[in-house]
Amino acid sequence: MGKATGFLEFGRADTPYRPVEERLRDWRDVQIDPPVEAVQEQAARCMDCGVPFCNSGCPLGNIIPDWNDLAYRDKWQDALTRLHSTNNFPEFTGLVCPAPCETACVLGINQDPVTIKQIEWEIIRRGWDEGWVRPQGPKRRTGRSVAVVGSGPAGLAAAQQLNRAGHTVTVFEKQDRIGGLLRYGIPDFKLEKWIVDRRLDQMREEGVSFQAGVEVGRDLAPGELRKSFDAVLLCLGSEDPRDLPVAGRELQGIHFAMDFLRQNNKRVAGDPIDPAEEILATGKHVIVLGGGDTGSDCVGTSHRQGAKSVTSIELLERPPEERDASTPWPMWPLVYRTSSSHAEGGEREFAVTTRSFEGSEGRVERLRAARLAFGDPDPATGRRPMDEIAGSEFELDADLVLLAMGFVHPLHEGLVEGLGVRLDTRGNVEAGPRDFATSEPGVFAAGDCRRGQSLVVWAQWEGREAARAVDRYLETSSLLQSRDGHY
Ligand SMILES: Cc1cc2nc3c(=O)[nH]c(=O)nc-3n(C[C@H](O)[C@H](O)[C@H](O)COP(=O)(O)OP(=O)(O)OC[C@H]3O[C@@H](n4cnc5c(N)ncnc54)[C@H](O)[C@@H]3O)c2cc1C
Ligand code: SF4
Repeated sequence: MGKATGFLEFGRADTPYRPVEERLRDWRDVQIDPPVEAVQEQAARCMDCGVPFCNSGCPLGNIIPDWNDLAYRDKWQDALTRLHSTNNFPEFTGLVCPAPCETACVLGINQDPVTIKQIEWEIIRRGWDEGWVRPQGPKRRTGRSVAVVGSGPAGLAAAQQLNRAGHTVTVFEKQDRIGGLLRYGIPDFKLEKWIVDRRLDQMREEGVSFQAGVEVGRDLAPGELRKSFDAVLLCLGSEDPRDLPVAGRELQGIHFAMDFLRQNNKRVAGDPIDPAEEILATGKHVIVLGGGDTGSDCVGTSHRQGAKSVTSIELLERPPEERDASTPWPMWPLVYRTSSSHAEGGEREFAVTTRSFEGSEGRVERLRAARLAFGDPDPATGRRPMDEIAGSEFELDADLVLLAMGFVHPLHEGLVEGLGVRLDTRGNVEAGPRDFATSEPGVFAAGDCRRGQSLVVWAQWEGREAARAVDRYLETSSLLQSRDGHY
Protein backbone atom coordinates (compact mmCIF):
# COMPACT_ATOMS: atom_id res chain seq x y z
CA MET A 1 0.00 0.00 0.00
CA GLY A 2 1.04 3.63 -0.45
CA LYS A 3 1.54 5.21 2.94
CA ALA A 4 0.14 3.31 5.94
CA THR A 5 -0.91 6.52 7.69
CA GLY A 6 -1.75 8.50 4.54
CA PHE A 7 -5.51 8.54 5.14
CA LEU A 8 -4.91 9.89 8.65
CA GLU A 9 -2.47 12.59 7.56
CA PHE A 10 -4.06 13.99 4.40
CA GLY A 11 -7.56 15.16 3.59
CA ARG A 12 -9.23 14.82 0.22
CA ALA A 13 -8.28 17.57 -2.25
CA ASP A 14 -10.56 17.64 -5.28
CA THR A 15 -9.27 18.58 -8.72
CA PRO A 16 -9.36 22.39 -8.97
CA TYR A 17 -11.40 24.16 -11.64
CA ARG A 18 -10.55 27.31 -13.57
CA PRO A 19 -12.38 30.44 -12.36
CA VAL A 20 -15.89 30.67 -13.81
CA GLU A 21 -15.33 34.12 -15.46
CA GLU A 22 -12.27 32.74 -17.25
CA ARG A 23 -13.67 29.41 -18.39
CA LEU A 24 -16.92 30.89 -19.73
CA ARG A 25 -14.83 32.78 -22.31
CA ASP A 26 -13.51 29.62 -24.00
CA TRP A 27 -14.29 25.98 -24.75
CA ARG A 28 -11.22 24.52 -23.08
CA ASP A 29 -11.23 21.96 -20.28
CA VAL A 30 -12.64 23.41 -17.08
CA GLN A 31 -10.21 21.47 -14.87
CA ILE A 32 -6.68 22.37 -13.78
CA ASP A 33 -4.15 19.57 -13.33
CA PRO A 34 -2.85 19.67 -9.76
CA PRO A 35 0.94 19.35 -9.21
CA VAL A 36 2.12 15.76 -9.31
CA GLU A 37 3.14 15.79 -5.62
CA ALA A 38 -0.43 16.75 -4.70
CA VAL A 39 -1.78 13.77 -6.66
CA GLN A 40 0.73 11.46 -4.98
CA GLU A 41 -0.45 12.73 -1.61
CA GLN A 42 -3.98 11.80 -2.63
CA ALA A 43 -2.82 8.36 -3.75
CA ALA A 44 -1.20 7.94 -0.33
CA ARG A 45 -4.71 8.10 1.20
CA CYS A 46 -5.57 4.68 -0.31
CA MET A 47 -5.79 2.19 2.58
CA ASP A 48 -5.26 -0.92 0.41
CA CYS A 49 -8.20 -2.39 2.33
CA GLY A 50 -8.75 -6.15 2.45
CA VAL A 51 -11.72 -6.06 0.08
CA PRO A 52 -11.29 -3.11 -2.29
CA PHE A 53 -14.89 -2.18 -3.02
CA CYS A 54 -13.64 0.50 -5.44
CA ASN A 55 -12.56 -2.32 -7.73
CA SER A 56 -16.07 -3.75 -7.93
CA GLY A 57 -17.58 -0.24 -7.96
CA CYS A 58 -15.70 0.44 -11.20
CA PRO A 59 -17.56 -1.17 -14.13
CA LEU A 60 -14.22 -1.90 -15.82
CA GLY A 61 -12.84 -3.57 -12.71
CA ASN A 62 -9.89 -1.16 -12.65
CA ILE A 63 -7.31 -2.47 -10.18
CA ILE A 64 -7.32 0.79 -8.29
CA PRO A 65 -5.34 -0.01 -5.10
CA ASP A 66 -2.44 -1.29 -7.24
CA TRP A 67 -2.11 1.84 -9.31
CA ASN A 68 -2.69 4.11 -6.33
CA ASP A 69 0.29 2.48 -4.67
CA LEU A 70 2.46 2.69 -7.80
CA ALA A 71 1.56 6.37 -8.31
CA TYR A 72 2.43 7.13 -4.69
CA ARG A 73 5.79 5.39 -5.12
CA ASP A 74 6.55 7.39 -8.31
CA LYS A 75 6.30 4.27 -10.53
CA TRP A 76 4.08 5.94 -13.07
CA GLN A 77 4.90 3.72 -16.03
CA ASP A 78 4.06 0.60 -14.02
CA ALA A 79 0.87 2.30 -12.86
CA LEU A 80 -0.02 2.96 -16.51
CA THR A 81 0.54 -0.67 -17.48
CA ARG A 82 -1.75 -1.76 -14.64
CA LEU A 83 -4.39 0.79 -15.63
CA HIS A 84 -4.29 -0.12 -19.32
CA SER A 85 -4.72 -3.80 -18.45
CA THR A 86 -8.41 -3.14 -17.72
CA ASN A 87 -9.12 0.18 -19.42
CA ASN A 88 -8.35 0.96 -23.07
CA PHE A 89 -8.97 4.69 -22.72
CA PRO A 90 -8.28 5.99 -19.19
CA GLU A 91 -8.11 9.54 -20.54
CA PHE A 92 -11.84 9.45 -21.36
CA THR A 93 -12.92 7.97 -18.04
CA GLY A 94 -10.31 10.03 -16.15
CA LEU A 95 -12.10 13.14 -17.42
CA VAL A 96 -15.80 12.32 -17.74
CA CYS A 97 -16.55 9.30 -15.55
CA PRO A 98 -18.90 10.03 -12.62
CA ALA A 99 -16.57 7.73 -10.64
CA PRO A 100 -18.83 5.11 -9.05
CA CYS A 101 -15.54 3.70 -7.70
CA GLU A 102 -15.26 6.67 -5.35
CA THR A 103 -18.73 6.22 -3.89
CA ALA A 104 -17.74 2.58 -3.18
CA CYS A 105 -14.34 3.49 -1.62
CA VAL A 106 -14.06 2.04 1.91
CA LEU A 107 -12.59 5.30 3.21
CA GLY A 108 -15.89 6.88 2.14
CA ILE A 109 -17.76 5.05 4.90
CA ASN A 110 -16.76 7.69 7.43
CA GLN A 111 -14.38 10.05 5.58
CA ASP A 112 -14.01 11.56 2.13
CA PRO A 113 -13.09 8.88 -0.43
CA VAL A 114 -9.82 8.73 -2.37
CA THR A 115 -9.73 10.95 -5.50
CA ILE A 116 -9.48 7.87 -7.74
CA LYS A 117 -10.54 9.56 -10.97
CA GLN A 118 -7.97 12.34 -10.51
CA ILE A 119 -5.19 9.77 -10.02
CA GLU A 120 -6.38 7.82 -13.07
CA TRP A 121 -6.18 10.98 -15.19
CA GLU A 122 -2.70 11.84 -13.88
CA ILE A 123 -1.41 8.34 -14.74
CA ILE A 124 -2.59 8.51 -18.34
CA ARG A 125 -1.69 12.21 -18.71
CA ARG A 126 1.89 11.41 -17.77
CA GLY A 127 1.80 8.32 -19.96
CA TRP A 128 1.07 10.40 -23.04
CA ASP A 129 3.48 13.19 -22.04
CA GLU A 130 6.33 10.74 -21.45
CA GLY A 131 5.68 8.86 -24.71
CA TRP A 132 4.80 5.62 -22.94
CA VAL A 133 1.55 5.15 -24.87
CA ARG A 134 2.76 3.40 -28.00
CA PRO A 135 0.91 1.50 -30.73
CA GLN A 136 0.52 -2.17 -29.78
CA GLY A 137 -0.35 -3.91 -33.02
CA PRO A 138 -0.90 -7.68 -33.09
CA LYS A 139 2.02 -10.08 -33.51
CA ARG A 140 0.08 -12.10 -36.09
CA ARG A 141 -3.04 -11.65 -38.19
CA THR A 142 -5.80 -14.27 -38.02
CA GLY A 143 -7.16 -13.65 -41.51
CA ARG A 144 -10.59 -12.95 -39.97
CA SER A 145 -12.41 -9.66 -40.46
CA VAL A 146 -14.80 -7.76 -38.18
CA ALA A 147 -17.03 -4.78 -38.92
CA VAL A 148 -17.71 -2.54 -35.93
CA VAL A 149 -20.64 -0.23 -36.62
CA GLY A 150 -20.50 2.91 -34.49
CA SER A 151 -17.39 4.67 -33.20
CA GLY A 152 -18.35 5.69 -29.65
CA PRO A 153 -16.47 4.37 -26.63
CA ALA A 154 -18.00 0.89 -27.02
CA GLY A 155 -17.04 0.59 -30.70
CA LEU A 156 -13.54 2.00 -30.13
CA ALA A 157 -12.76 -0.26 -27.16
CA ALA A 158 -14.00 -3.30 -29.08
CA ALA A 159 -12.06 -2.33 -32.21
CA GLN A 160 -8.82 -1.90 -30.30
CA GLN A 161 -9.21 -5.23 -28.52
CA LEU A 162 -10.21 -7.17 -31.66
CA ASN A 163 -7.37 -5.67 -33.66
CA ARG A 164 -4.89 -6.54 -30.93
CA ALA A 165 -6.24 -10.12 -31.09
CA GLY A 166 -5.15 -10.15 -34.74
CA HIS A 167 -8.44 -9.63 -36.57
CA THR A 168 -8.76 -7.11 -39.37
CA VAL A 169 -11.13 -4.45 -38.03
CA THR A 170 -13.06 -1.77 -39.89
CA VAL A 171 -15.06 0.79 -37.88
CA PHE A 172 -17.98 2.38 -39.72
CA GLU A 173 -19.37 5.73 -38.52
CA LYS A 174 -22.22 7.69 -40.08
CA GLN A 175 -21.05 11.04 -38.74
CA ASP A 176 -18.24 12.88 -40.52
CA ARG A 177 -15.81 12.30 -37.65
CA ILE A 178 -15.01 9.30 -35.47
CA GLY A 179 -15.79 9.24 -31.74
CA GLY A 180 -19.55 8.85 -31.15
CA LEU A 181 -20.74 10.90 -28.20
CA LEU A 182 -17.13 11.53 -27.16
CA ARG A 183 -16.93 13.64 -30.33
CA TYR A 184 -20.40 15.01 -30.92
CA GLY A 185 -22.18 14.83 -27.56
CA ILE A 186 -19.79 15.66 -24.73
CA PRO A 187 -18.65 19.29 -25.06
CA ASP A 188 -15.00 20.31 -25.37
CA PHE A 189 -15.05 21.92 -21.93
CA LYS A 190 -15.37 18.39 -20.50
CA LEU A 191 -13.33 16.52 -23.13
CA GLU A 192 -11.17 18.40 -25.63
CA LYS A 193 -11.25 16.63 -28.98
CA TRP A 194 -7.48 16.40 -29.55
CA ILE A 195 -7.59 13.88 -26.72
CA VAL A 196 -9.88 11.67 -28.84
CA ASP A 197 -7.79 12.26 -32.00
CA ARG A 198 -4.58 11.24 -30.26
CA ARG A 199 -6.09 7.87 -29.33
CA LEU A 200 -7.47 7.37 -32.85
CA ASP A 201 -3.98 7.95 -34.26
CA GLN A 202 -2.66 5.21 -31.99
CA MET A 203 -5.41 2.85 -33.18
CA ARG A 204 -4.70 3.65 -36.86
CA GLU A 205 -1.03 2.87 -36.31
CA GLU A 206 -2.05 -0.41 -34.71
CA GLY A 207 -3.96 -1.25 -37.89
CA VAL A 208 -7.60 -0.34 -37.23
CA SER A 209 -9.33 1.07 -40.29
CA PHE A 210 -11.93 3.85 -39.88
CA GLN A 211 -14.63 4.76 -42.38
CA ALA A 212 -16.44 7.95 -41.35
CA GLY A 213 -19.47 9.30 -43.23
CA VAL A 214 -20.86 5.82 -43.94
CA GLU A 215 -24.31 5.05 -42.57
CA VAL A 216 -24.62 1.29 -42.58
CA GLY A 217 -28.17 0.38 -43.58
CA ARG A 218 -28.32 3.31 -45.99
CA ASP A 219 -24.93 3.81 -47.68
CA LEU A 220 -23.99 0.16 -47.21
CA ALA A 221 -26.65 -2.57 -47.32
CA PRO A 222 -26.85 -4.85 -44.25
CA GLY A 223 -26.57 -7.92 -46.49
CA GLU A 224 -23.42 -6.54 -48.10
CA LEU A 225 -21.91 -5.90 -44.66
CA ARG A 226 -22.58 -9.47 -43.55
CA LYS A 227 -21.11 -10.90 -46.76
CA SER A 228 -17.93 -8.80 -46.50
CA PHE A 229 -17.07 -9.53 -42.85
CA ASP A 230 -16.76 -12.68 -40.74
CA ALA A 231 -18.48 -10.96 -37.80
CA VAL A 232 -20.41 -7.74 -37.21
CA LEU A 233 -20.52 -5.85 -33.92
CA LEU A 234 -23.23 -3.22 -33.49
CA CYS A 235 -22.21 -0.30 -31.25
CA LEU A 236 -24.90 2.09 -32.44
CA GLY A 237 -25.57 4.03 -29.26
CA SER A 238 -29.04 5.00 -28.05
CA GLU A 239 -30.02 7.77 -30.40
CA ASP A 240 -33.81 7.97 -30.33
CA PRO A 241 -34.53 10.96 -28.06
CA ARG A 242 -37.46 11.08 -25.62
CA ASP A 243 -39.94 13.69 -26.85
CA LEU A 244 -42.45 15.86 -24.99
CA PRO A 245 -45.77 15.73 -26.85
CA VAL A 246 -47.50 18.70 -25.20
CA ALA A 247 -49.36 21.62 -26.79
CA GLY A 248 -47.01 23.96 -28.64
CA ARG A 249 -44.28 21.34 -29.19
CA GLU A 250 -44.28 22.24 -32.91
CA LEU A 251 -43.15 25.84 -32.27
CA GLN A 252 -39.78 26.97 -33.59
CA GLY A 253 -37.07 27.27 -30.99
CA ILE A 254 -37.75 23.87 -29.39
CA HIS A 255 -34.98 21.39 -30.17
CA PHE A 256 -33.62 18.07 -29.08
CA ALA A 257 -30.51 18.60 -26.97
CA MET A 258 -28.31 16.54 -29.26
CA ASP A 259 -29.06 18.77 -32.28
CA PHE A 260 -27.82 21.74 -30.22
CA LEU A 261 -24.78 19.98 -28.73
CA ARG A 262 -23.63 18.25 -31.93
CA GLN A 263 -23.82 21.52 -33.83
CA ASN A 264 -21.83 23.33 -31.19
CA ASN A 265 -19.08 20.71 -31.13
CA LYS A 266 -18.84 21.09 -34.91
CA ARG A 267 -18.65 24.88 -34.53
CA VAL A 268 -15.88 24.53 -31.94
CA ALA A 269 -14.08 22.17 -34.35
CA GLY A 270 -14.11 25.01 -36.91
CA ASP A 271 -16.83 23.65 -39.21
CA PRO A 272 -19.05 26.18 -41.02
CA ILE A 273 -22.69 26.09 -39.84
CA ASP A 274 -25.49 26.88 -42.27
CA PRO A 275 -27.09 30.09 -40.84
CA ALA A 276 -30.57 28.66 -41.56
CA GLU A 277 -29.77 25.67 -39.35
CA GLU A 278 -28.13 27.53 -36.50
CA ILE A 279 -29.33 26.82 -32.94
CA LEU A 280 -27.82 29.44 -30.65
CA ALA A 281 -28.50 30.42 -27.05
CA THR A 282 -26.95 33.87 -27.49
CA GLY A 283 -29.12 36.56 -25.88
CA LYS A 284 -31.95 34.09 -25.22
CA HIS A 285 -33.91 32.80 -22.25
CA VAL A 286 -32.98 29.14 -22.37
CA ILE A 287 -34.97 26.35 -20.74
CA VAL A 288 -33.34 22.94 -20.46
CA LEU A 289 -35.77 20.11 -19.79
CA GLY A 290 -33.97 17.20 -18.12
CA GLY A 291 -31.31 17.17 -15.47
CA GLY A 292 -28.78 14.48 -16.49
CA ASP A 293 -25.42 14.82 -18.22
CA THR A 294 -27.08 15.92 -21.45
CA GLY A 295 -29.03 18.67 -19.69
CA SER A 296 -25.96 19.80 -17.79
CA ASP A 297 -23.96 20.00 -21.04
CA CYS A 298 -26.73 22.15 -22.56
CA VAL A 299 -26.44 24.48 -19.56
CA GLY A 300 -22.64 24.87 -19.90
CA THR A 301 -22.90 25.36 -23.67
CA SER A 302 -25.67 27.97 -23.28
CA HIS A 303 -23.59 29.91 -20.74
CA ARG A 304 -20.64 29.99 -23.13
CA GLN A 305 -22.84 31.12 -26.03
CA GLY A 306 -24.02 34.07 -23.91
CA ALA A 307 -27.58 33.13 -22.93
CA LYS A 308 -29.65 35.80 -21.16
CA SER A 309 -30.87 33.23 -18.63
CA VAL A 310 -30.64 29.46 -18.27
CA THR A 311 -33.20 27.44 -16.30
CA SER A 312 -33.02 23.68 -15.87
CA ILE A 313 -36.22 21.85 -15.15
CA GLU A 314 -36.29 18.38 -13.64
CA LEU A 315 -39.47 16.34 -13.24
CA LEU A 316 -38.25 14.50 -10.15
CA GLU A 317 -37.76 15.94 -6.65
CA ARG A 318 -34.52 17.56 -5.57
CA PRO A 319 -32.39 14.68 -4.23
CA PRO A 320 -31.04 14.76 -0.67
CA GLU A 321 -27.67 16.46 0.03
CA GLU A 322 -26.26 13.35 1.70
CA ARG A 323 -26.50 9.64 0.98
CA ASP A 324 -29.73 8.34 2.56
CA ALA A 325 -30.98 4.89 3.56
CA SER A 326 -32.30 4.16 0.06
CA THR A 327 -28.75 3.97 -1.37
CA PRO A 328 -26.42 2.77 1.41
CA TRP A 329 -22.66 2.45 0.93
CA PRO A 330 -21.19 1.06 -1.37
CA MET A 331 -24.11 1.75 -3.73
CA TRP A 332 -24.15 4.68 -6.12
CA PRO A 333 -25.98 7.27 -4.00
CA LEU A 334 -28.90 9.33 -5.16
CA VAL A 335 -27.71 12.78 -3.98
CA TYR A 336 -27.91 16.37 -5.17
CA ARG A 337 -25.00 16.90 -7.59
CA THR A 338 -23.67 20.16 -8.94
CA SER A 339 -21.80 19.78 -12.22
CA SER A 340 -19.17 22.30 -13.35
CA SER A 341 -21.84 23.72 -15.69
CA HIS A 342 -24.40 24.14 -12.92
CA ALA A 343 -21.73 25.87 -10.84
CA GLU A 344 -21.38 28.44 -13.64
CA GLY A 345 -24.84 29.88 -13.05
CA GLY A 346 -28.49 29.50 -13.97
CA GLU A 347 -31.51 28.29 -12.04
CA ARG A 348 -32.52 24.72 -11.25
CA GLU A 349 -36.13 23.76 -10.70
CA PHE A 350 -37.15 20.34 -9.36
CA ALA A 351 -40.50 18.53 -9.20
CA VAL A 352 -41.89 20.52 -12.12
CA THR A 353 -43.98 19.26 -15.03
CA THR A 354 -44.21 21.09 -18.35
CA ARG A 355 -47.82 21.57 -19.45
CA SER A 356 -47.42 23.46 -22.71
CA PHE A 357 -45.36 25.85 -24.82
CA GLU A 358 -46.77 29.12 -26.09
CA GLY A 359 -45.56 31.73 -28.52
CA SER A 360 -46.38 33.94 -31.46
CA GLU A 361 -45.61 33.88 -35.18
CA GLY A 362 -44.66 30.24 -34.85
CA ARG A 363 -41.87 30.83 -32.32
CA VAL A 364 -41.80 29.72 -28.72
CA GLU A 365 -41.92 32.51 -26.11
CA ARG A 366 -43.15 30.87 -22.90
CA LEU A 367 -43.30 27.61 -21.09
CA ARG A 368 -46.26 26.84 -18.82
CA ALA A 369 -45.50 24.49 -15.97
CA ALA A 370 -46.86 23.24 -12.65
CA ARG A 371 -45.25 21.96 -9.47
CA LEU A 372 -45.56 18.34 -8.41
CA ALA A 373 -46.12 16.66 -5.04
CA PHE A 374 -44.85 13.12 -4.55
CA GLY A 375 -46.70 10.49 -2.49
CA ASP A 376 -45.33 7.50 -0.59
CA PRO A 377 -43.69 4.78 -2.68
CA ASP A 378 -45.97 2.09 -4.07
CA PRO A 379 -44.95 -1.11 -2.19
CA ALA A 380 -45.19 -3.19 -5.38
CA THR A 381 -43.13 -1.01 -7.74
CA GLY A 382 -41.23 1.30 -5.38
CA ARG A 383 -42.38 4.20 -7.55
CA ARG A 384 -43.73 7.34 -5.94
CA PRO A 385 -46.99 8.65 -7.38
CA MET A 386 -46.87 12.31 -8.43
CA ASP A 387 -49.69 14.84 -8.56
CA GLU A 388 -49.86 18.41 -9.74
CA ILE A 389 -50.24 20.84 -6.85
CA ALA A 390 -53.47 22.79 -7.38
CA GLY A 391 -52.80 26.46 -8.13
CA SER A 392 -49.05 25.94 -8.60
CA GLU A 393 -49.04 26.74 -12.30
CA PHE A 394 -46.40 29.22 -13.44
CA GLU A 395 -44.80 30.59 -16.61
CA LEU A 396 -41.22 31.04 -17.70
CA ASP A 397 -39.86 33.10 -20.58
CA ALA A 398 -38.47 30.73 -23.19
CA ASP A 399 -36.77 31.69 -26.45
CA LEU A 400 -34.89 28.41 -26.75
CA VAL A 401 -36.06 25.11 -25.26
CA LEU A 402 -33.73 22.13 -25.21
CA LEU A 403 -35.22 18.68 -24.68
CA ALA A 404 -32.71 16.63 -22.71
CA MET A 405 -34.98 13.97 -21.24
CA GLY A 406 -32.93 10.98 -22.27
CA PHE A 407 -33.01 8.46 -25.09
CA VAL A 408 -35.42 5.57 -25.49
CA HIS A 409 -33.41 3.11 -27.61
CA PRO A 410 -31.23 2.90 -30.77
CA LEU A 411 -32.75 3.99 -34.06
CA HIS A 412 -34.55 1.01 -35.61
CA GLU A 413 -34.99 2.24 -39.14
CA GLY A 414 -32.20 1.19 -41.49
CA LEU A 415 -29.59 -1.13 -40.06
CA VAL A 416 -31.42 -2.68 -37.08
CA GLU A 417 -34.51 -3.47 -39.14
CA GLY A 418 -32.41 -4.48 -42.13
CA LEU A 419 -30.45 -7.04 -40.14
CA GLY A 420 -33.63 -8.35 -38.55
CA VAL A 421 -32.09 -8.61 -35.06
CA ARG A 422 -34.53 -9.20 -32.22
CA LEU A 423 -35.24 -6.30 -29.83
CA ASP A 424 -35.79 -6.48 -26.08
CA THR A 425 -38.89 -5.10 -24.35
CA ARG A 426 -37.33 -1.61 -24.18
CA GLY A 427 -36.49 -1.55 -27.89
CA ASN A 428 -32.75 -2.15 -27.45
CA VAL A 429 -30.91 -4.77 -29.49
CA GLU A 430 -31.33 -8.04 -27.59
CA ALA A 431 -27.99 -9.63 -26.70
CA GLY A 432 -26.71 -11.27 -23.51
CA PRO A 433 -24.17 -9.65 -21.15
CA ARG A 434 -21.69 -12.51 -21.63
CA ASP A 435 -21.96 -13.63 -25.25
CA PHE A 436 -23.21 -10.27 -26.65
CA ALA A 437 -24.79 -12.36 -29.45
CA THR A 438 -27.92 -11.08 -31.16
CA SER A 439 -30.59 -13.31 -32.65
CA GLU A 440 -28.65 -13.27 -35.94
CA PRO A 441 -25.61 -15.61 -36.05
CA GLY A 442 -22.35 -13.69 -36.34
CA VAL A 443 -23.96 -10.38 -35.34
CA PHE A 444 -23.15 -8.99 -31.89
CA ALA A 445 -24.19 -5.85 -30.00
CA ALA A 446 -22.57 -3.76 -27.26
CA GLY A 447 -22.81 -0.38 -25.58
CA ASP A 448 -25.87 1.83 -25.23
CA CYS A 449 -27.68 0.08 -28.13
CA ARG A 450 -27.67 -3.10 -26.01
CA ARG A 451 -27.87 -1.91 -22.38
CA GLY A 452 -29.76 1.36 -22.93
CA GLN A 453 -28.38 4.86 -22.39
CA SER A 454 -25.58 4.69 -19.88
CA LEU A 455 -22.03 5.91 -19.27
CA VAL A 456 -18.71 6.02 -21.08
CA VAL A 457 -17.19 3.60 -18.58
CA TRP A 458 -19.97 1.07 -19.16
CA ALA A 459 -19.63 1.47 -22.93
CA GLN A 460 -15.90 0.75 -22.69
CA TRP A 461 -16.64 -2.32 -20.57
CA GLU A 462 -19.22 -3.50 -23.09
CA GLY A 463 -16.78 -3.00 -25.96
CA ARG A 464 -14.00 -4.95 -24.24
CA GLU A 465 -16.24 -7.82 -23.21
CA ALA A 466 -17.99 -8.00 -26.58
CA ALA A 467 -14.60 -8.10 -28.31
CA ARG A 468 -13.76 -11.18 -26.27
CA ALA A 469 -17.09 -12.77 -27.25
CA VAL A 470 -16.49 -12.04 -30.94
CA ASP A 471 -12.93 -13.37 -30.67
CA ARG A 472 -14.23 -16.62 -29.16
CA TYR A 473 -16.80 -16.88 -31.95
CA LEU A 474 -14.09 -16.49 -34.59
CA GLU A 475 -11.33 -18.47 -32.90
CA THR A 476 -13.24 -20.74 -30.42
CA SER A 477 -11.10 -19.41 -27.54
CA SER A 478 -9.82 -15.96 -26.63
CA LEU A 479 -6.72 -14.54 -25.01
CA LEU A 480 -8.47 -11.23 -24.41
CA GLN A 481 -8.99 -10.72 -20.70
CA SER A 482 -12.49 -10.27 -19.34
CA ARG A 483 -13.67 -8.10 -16.41
CA ASP A 484 -13.78 -11.20 -14.21
CA GLY A 485 -10.18 -12.09 -15.07
CA HIS A 486 -11.16 -15.15 -17.15
CA TYR A 487 -9.24 -16.04 -20.26
C1 LIG B 1 -24.72 14.97 -24.22
C2 LIG B 1 -24.23 13.75 -23.51
C3 LIG B 1 -23.29 13.89 -22.51
C4 LIG B 1 -22.80 12.78 -21.84
N1 LIG B 1 -21.88 12.95 -20.87
C5 LIG B 1 -21.37 11.88 -20.25
C6 LIG B 1 -20.38 12.03 -19.25
O1 LIG B 1 -19.99 13.14 -18.90
N2 LIG B 1 -19.88 10.91 -18.66
C7 LIG B 1 -20.30 9.65 -19.03
O2 LIG B 1 -19.78 8.66 -18.50
N3 LIG B 1 -21.26 9.48 -19.97
C8 LIG B 1 -21.81 10.56 -20.58
N4 LIG B 1 -22.77 10.39 -21.52
C9 LIG B 1 -23.17 9.02 -21.91
C10 LIG B 1 -22.12 8.40 -22.85
O3 LIG B 1 -21.67 9.36 -23.76
C11 LIG B 1 -22.70 7.18 -23.58
O4 LIG B 1 -23.19 6.28 -22.61
C12 LIG B 1 -21.65 6.50 -24.44
O5 LIG B 1 -21.08 7.39 -25.37
C13 LIG B 1 -22.26 5.32 -25.18
O6 LIG B 1 -21.27 4.77 -26.01
P1 LIG B 1 -21.64 3.91 -27.29
O7 LIG B 1 -20.34 3.58 -27.92
O8 LIG B 1 -22.55 2.80 -26.90
O9 LIG B 1 -22.50 4.86 -28.23
P2 LIG B 1 -22.27 6.32 -28.82
O10 LIG B 1 -21.20 7.06 -28.13
O11 LIG B 1 -23.63 6.93 -28.87
O12 LIG B 1 -21.78 6.04 -30.31
C14 LIG B 1 -22.62 5.40 -31.25
C15 LIG B 1 -22.17 5.80 -32.64
O13 LIG B 1 -22.79 4.93 -33.61
C16 LIG B 1 -23.02 5.70 -34.77
N5 LIG B 1 -24.04 5.01 -35.57
C17 LIG B 1 -25.32 4.72 -35.20
N6 LIG B 1 -25.93 4.07 -36.21
C18 LIG B 1 -25.03 3.93 -37.22
C19 LIG B 1 -25.10 3.34 -38.54
N7 LIG B 1 -26.22 2.77 -38.99
N8 LIG B 1 -23.99 3.40 -39.32
C20 LIG B 1 -22.85 4.00 -38.86
N9 LIG B 1 -22.75 4.58 -37.63
C21 LIG B 1 -23.83 4.54 -36.82
C22 LIG B 1 -23.51 7.02 -34.20
O14 LIG B 1 -23.39 8.06 -35.16
C23 LIG B 1 -22.57 7.22 -33.01
O15 LIG B 1 -21.43 7.95 -33.37
C24 LIG B 1 -23.30 11.49 -22.18
C25 LIG B 1 -24.27 11.35 -23.17
C26 LIG B 1 -24.75 12.47 -23.82
C27 LIG B 1 -25.81 12.31 -24.87
S1 SF4 C 1 -13.25 4.29 -14.89
FE1 SF4 C 1 -14.63 5.50 -13.57
S2 SF4 C 1 -15.30 4.03 -12.00
FE2 SF4 C 1 -13.46 3.14 -12.97
S3 SF4 C 1 -11.70 3.84 -11.75
FE3 SF4 C 1 -11.96 5.35 -13.39
S4 SF4 C 1 -13.25 6.94 -12.49
FE4 SF4 C 1 -13.47 5.11 -11.19
